[in-house]
This record gives sequence, structure tokens and C-alpha cells, in this order.
Amino acid sequence: MHKAGAAALTQLLQYDPPDEAHRTIPCSCGHPACYKELRSKTVLTVLGPVELSRPYYLCEHCSKGQCPVDAELGVAGLESSPGVRRMESVVGSEMPFASGCEPMKELAGLDVPAKAIERASEAIGLQIALRDTREIARTKQLVLPVVPKQNIPKMYVLMDGVQVPVVRKDAEGRAGRTEGQPARTRECKLGCVFTQTTLDKEGRPIRDSDSTTYVGAIETAEEFGFRLYTEAWGRGWQWATIKVVIGDGAIWIWNQADRHFPGAIQIVDLYHAREHLWEVAAWLHPNDSAAKKLWMAPMKDLLDEGKIEPLVAKLREIAADHALAQPKVTEEILKEADYFETNATRMRYPQFRAQGLFVGSGVIEAGCKSVIGSRLKQSGMFWTVRGANEIIALRCCRLNGRFEDFWEENRAA
Ligand SMILES: [Zn+2]
Repeated sequence: MHKAGAAALTQLLQYDPPDEAHRTIPCSCGHPACYKELRSKTVLTVLGPVELSRPYYLCEHCSKGQCPVDAELGVAGLESSPGVRRMESVVGSEMPFASGCEPMKELAGLDVPAKAIERASEAIGLQIALRDTREIARTKQLVLPVVPKQNIPKMYVLMDGVQVPVVRKDAEGRAGRTEGQPARTRECKLGCVFTQTTLDKEGRPIRDSDSTTYVGAIETAEEFGFRLYTEAWGRGWQWATIKVVIGDGAIWIWNQADRHFPGAIQIVDLYHAREHLWEVAAWLHPNDSAAKKLWMAPMKDLLDEGKIEPLVAKLREIAADHALAQPKVTEEILKEADYFETNATRMRYPQFRAQGLFVGSGVIEAGCKSVIGSRLKQSGMFWTVRGANEIIALRCCRLNGRFEDFWEENRAA
């Protein structure tokens, strides 16, 4: 079938020489280019390789040659059709480029080198990233699209960071995560937006199905804030009755929340907060897991009950008790006390639960694994920041169900 199709398509792609009236066309240098001859090239299409024969024009003035048909067909300077490159980018967004050759052969009957999958994935990822950048630039100028009024009971914005392994040159000059070691990773910031309408029988919130969209990039918190705001705005942030931002304790998250999502309820992920208590437990009882658990129980209750002020007072008391014998322990516990004090209003868990809100950031943590980790953190992989951002843009576009829109827009252009 493919062979018959390729033969039929080859027939269709035999262009005639131009008639007398169309023998010259403009060259980019301003002079005319004259028709020379029919020239052929092989193009890989979804039906297999086809022969394309089309008019070739040459400019006598600057010696530049051109085949205008190529641009119309979307194959200018390329050896494969838009359909093939779309397949390659889908495969390349899902798996390592070299692993993509086998499904291209198995599912589409096409022999393509890994390099072609890489080139198509990165080129299409770049186009998507540039389109995102243009949209974000409009947000910065406060030129926001009109989003039709809609009924959104609760909208959530979540943020997190995930490390992506990068090539040496893109990690240079950055402190490593392990002291004394050079950095080999960069932080990708990932955000998601979702809505919630109902509760289950036990009164726990249920995320609306298919309501989660993602944005991500290796970039500054400042740039990322605009990216996430652009996404939330497009999803109808202004129409949400209850607005919520959830994150761990990272300072950049709350800076961006204050800047772009003022008035939203801010919630520190309960499970991260508990981790901080476990840290204190570990300082106090480094080698005694039974004692750790015993210490933890009443402290965890205070946290779960949102009684942060008594919790902070208790931590400072404990810190003072160790001041003479173990100054390092005191220092660490005081740091944790500050963390709870700073975030106290973000830890009123009973209040949040009474409103039927999520208090955990599980969705974004799962996203860090499924959106970023599963494709970008496989062993032996090192990315350039540019290449990683192209693949992240491509993956988010597909996960958000906007890949078809992207091709539609390109067709229109
Ligand atoms: Zn010219």
C-alpha cells in the first residue's frame, strides 16, 4: 500500500515547466531569477520516499537558486515532509532519539536516522517555545487575551523545581549540589494549573478530570513566573471563585505567588512541612528511630492541626536546651523554627480542609516525574539548556492537548 501510494504521489509531484509568462520570479536580492530547468529531489513522506520534480530558477545577479514549490510543500531545505517530521517529533518527545528509529519503522514503515528524529523534535520544539515566548511577551506588556467568562469553583496553581542533567558548558560557574563538586544539573521549573469542583464521600477534594496543564523551562524564577501566569490566565484564572497556590517552602515560589497570583490562598504542601519536622527529629535523635517517632507524634499533631505558633515556640525551647552542649543542633532547629514561622499562615490545614481544598502538591511532584524525569533524566543523558527547553516545550504542548492547534496554526500561516 505504501509503495503504491508513494508511486502515485511521485506522479503528482512531477511539476511542469512554467509557461512563457512565468519564466522569471523575484530574487531576494531585488533582481529577477530566471527559470533554468526541472530539478528533482527525493523527499521522505509518510508513504515512503518520493521523487519530486519541480522548476528551478537562478538569479544571474547573485547566483542564488530557488525552487518556489518547495516552500509551498513545506520541504524547503529539508529532506522529509511535514507529516514525517510531525511523526519524528512525537517519537522524539516520548523517548531517546536513537530509540525512536524502531517505532518509526514498525508503525510507519519509515527508515529514518536518529539524527533526523533529533533534528525534527528540536526544530518543532523550538517553534513551540518561540510561540510560547511571544505569548509571554504580550503578558509582560499587559496585552492579555480575552478569556470568556466561565464557572470555575476552584483553580489551583502549583510550582516545583526538578534537576535536569546538563552538559558541562551549560553548568559552568554554578555551585554543585554536593559541596566541592562541580554542578552537572540545572533546575527546571515546572508548574501546573488544574481545577476542582467536587469532593469524594469522605469530603476529600477530587481534581477535575483532564483539567491539568503544564508549563516548564530551565529559566529564572522571574521568567517562569510570567510563563505560569500566562498559562493560568488562559485557563480562566480571573473567573475562578477560589484561587489557590500550593508549593513547598522554596522562597522563589512564594515570591512568584505574591507577584502574579495576589489574593490567592497560599498553601505549603503538608508533606514537605512534615519532612521538615523529621529533619528536626533526626538532629535530636540521630541513631534512635523509636525515639524519633516518639518525639514526632505530638509535633506532627500540632502541624496537622495548624497550630504553628505553639509548634514554633516548642522548637525554640528545644533549641535553647541544646545551646551549650550542641550548638550545631540548636542552629539547625532554629532554622526550622524560622521556616515554620515564615510559613505559618500557609499551614492552616484544618481551615483549608474545611474549605474542601487540596493541601498537598502531589500533582506537581508526579508531573516532575512524568513530564520531565521520564524523558530528560534517563541515565547517561546530558542536555544543553537549549535542547532541554525545546523538548520540554514540545512535551508540555502535547500533554496539554495543544499539538493539533500548533499544526493548524502553521498550516494557516
Ligand atoms: Zn539575486
